[in-house]
Amino acid sequence: MFKGILITKGDAGYGASVQSIDESVLGDGDVTVRVEWSTLNYKDGLAITGKSPVVRRFPLVPGIDFAGTVSASSNPDWKVGDKVLLNGWGVGEAHCGGLAEMARVKGEWLTALPSKFSTRQAMAIGTAGYTAMLCVMALEKHGVKPGDGEILVTGASGGVGSVAISLLSKLGYTVTASTGRLAESPYLMSLGATSVIDRNELSAPGKALAKERWAGVVDSVGSHTLANACAATKYSGAVAACGLAGGMDFPASVAPFILRAVTLYGIDSVMAPQALRSKAWSRLATDLDVSKLDALTTQIQLEDAIDTAKQLLEGKVRGRVVVQIAQTAPVSGRSSA
Ligand code: NDP
Repeated sequence: MFKGILITKGDAGYGASVQSIDESVLGDGDVTVRVEWSTLNYKDGLAITGKSPVVRRFPLVPGIDFAGTVSASSNPDWKVGDKVLLNGWGVGEAHCGGLAEMARVKGEWLTALPSKFSTRQAMAIGTAGYTAMLCVMALEKHGVKPGDGEILVTGASGGVGSVAISLLSKLGYTVTASTGRLAESPYLMSLGATSVIDRNELSAPGKALAKERWAGVVDSVGSHTLANACAATKYSGAVAACGLAGGMDFPASVAPFILRAVTLYGIDSVMAPQALRSKAWSRLATDLDVSKLDALTTQIQLEDAIDTAKQLLEGKVRGRVVVQIAQTAPVSGRSSA
C-alpha cells in the first residue's frame, strides 16, 4: 500500500481523495518508480476536478508528470537507483500517474533526469515548462530571431507562460506578456518580460488582419486570443499554439496565413517523440535560468493538491506548483554536467 490521490467514479459520482492505494491499481509497466516530486498542470486540474473528461480509466492516480528513483525494473534501459522523469504519454489520463508515492510505467516513457536538475527542479519545469521549451524551439526552427521584434506570450502568469517568458528573455528576445492579472506585472517583468498588456486587448472578437506587431507568439489561451495573435503577427512570422485556457475554439480567418505568410505551429507534449523530448530537456538545462525557476515555483504537499487544482482552473495560481511526494525528497540541484 502507498499514499496517493485516487480518482473514482461510481454511484456516488466523480471524486478525488488522498488515500492508501493498493499496488494492483497501478496497472502494467516494466519499471516501478519511487516518486519524489510531482506537480500540477492545467490538465491535472481538469482530471482532479472532473471539469473535462480527461480521465479515461477508473480508479486512477492523476498526475501527468513525476520525477523520482527507479525501485524495480525489468527493462534493460533502466536499473534500480536511476533518476528519471516522465511527462505525458497518457499517464495521469489512461494510466496511473505521478500524484502518489509509487508509479509503474513502460520504460520507453521515461526520460533520464538531466544532471543539471534535481527531481524537484524537474517538476518545477514539468509538462508546462517542457511545453514552453517546445514552443520556443518551434519559433527558433521557423527562423524567428531576437532582432525580428516582439514575441507575444499569452496566459503569461500561468505555468507555460511563466517558463516561456524566462526562456525567451534569456535567449535575448523582447517579450510582451499578456495577462488578466495586471497586478502580477512586477512578477512578469522579473521573469524577463519587457512589457505587459491586459489580456482583454486580445480576448474579444477582432479583425481578420490587424496592425503587424508580433515577430512570434507563444499562445496557451486559444479562442479569440489565438485568432487575434495570428491577425497581428508580422509578415512571415510564426505562432506556436499549445493551449486552450481561454477556449478550444479558433474563430479566425485565413487572412494572416494567405496574405502575410504567417505559420501556425501546433505543439503537443503528450505524444512528442523521445528524441524531441530529450532535445527539449537538454535545452532547458542550458537555457533556463534556475534562479528564475525558483522564483516562479510554489511548493505544496500532496494533501493540498486537490484544493490547489481547483484554484489553478480558476486562474488563481501563479507560475508553477511542485508537489512534495516523498518526505525525504531531495530539494537542491545537482551541479555535475
Ligand atoms: P495555468 O493554469 O498554469 O495557466 C493558464 C493561464 O492562462 C492562467 O494563469 C491565466 O493567465 C490564463 N487564463 C486562464 N483562464 C483564462 C481565460 N478564460 N481567458 C484567457 N486567459 C486565461 O496552465 P498551464 O500553463 O499549465 O497550461 C496552459 C494551457 O496550455 C492549458 O490550456 C493547458 O491545457 C495547455 N497545455 C498544453 C500542452 C500541450 O501539450 N499542448 C502541455 C501543457 C499545457 P493570466 O492570469 O496571466 O491571464
